[in-house]
Amino acid sequence: MEYRYKTVLLKISGEALQGPLGFGLDPDTVDDIATQIAEVSRDGVRLGVVIGGGNIFRGQALAERGLNRVTGDHMGMLATVINALAMQDALERQGLATRVQSAITMVEFTEPYIRRRAIRHLEKGRVVIFAAGTGNPYLTTDTAAVLRANEIGADIILKATRVDGIYDRDPIKYPQAVRFTEITYLEAINRKLQVMDTTAMSLAMDNGLETVVFNLQKQGNIKRSIMGEQVGTLVRIGD
Ligand code: UDP
Repeated sequence: MEYRYKTVLLKISGEALQGPLGFGLDPDTVDDIATQIAEVSRDGVRLGVVIGGGNIFRGQALAERGLNRVTGDHMGMLATVINALAMQDALERQGLATRVQSAITMVEFTEPYIRRRAIRHLEKGRVVIFAAGTGNPYLTTDTAAVLRANEIGADIILKATRVDGIYDRDPIKYPQAVRFTEITYLEAINRKLQVMDTTAMSLAMDNGLETVVFNLQKQGNIKRSIMGEQVGTLVRIGD
């Protein structure tokens, strides 16, 4: 089996885990994603996974309801740890070796994030789930994904979403929206397309890391995108 990318950082939004529930975690949905991850991991792809927390808490949304923003962000980061543990459990039930490394130390049930140790786990074929984002408020797990991707030397960032890629308009609101097969980070930033937040995109752009945005709900899409098939939208560095 020929994979184009050998080391991959997969970003899964919290919402991707909620499945039909609309909030929180749907165990069947987590299991489906774990099955997709297990297949490529068994084929030897080195996989780092960053999980979001938007299915439980987002700091900005809490701040809009009157909470302190930093407290809200701390709650959001804790939400990502809950999701990471759920994903670890599902991956272990697939028979994979995994580690959760958290940017906020919680040594009773996660390892602290230690870059060299994370790389060693990947070399040994373990899936490393990076939890608690960057450990800092005012940032998102998209930024954490780009940061960790750079740190582990990933060949690509895979951003798993609920739509088939990046469109010129919101495809849920506008059925005539057109999907890009490729776009540059600058164009995505300038057109204010909802790809990743601008901090994440500029970090990826400045460090030469491309992103594939694709639909996680289509079985086999993780594998197809790692094989380099045209799945979703490729976000390029530009000239
Ligand atoms: N968060 C944070 N710093 C980080 C990553 C996340 O403060 O480095 C908080 C922030 O409140 C964010 C929440 O955790 O809204 C959940 O992450 P995110 O919104 O990125 O989750 P996703 O949209 O991917 O589900």
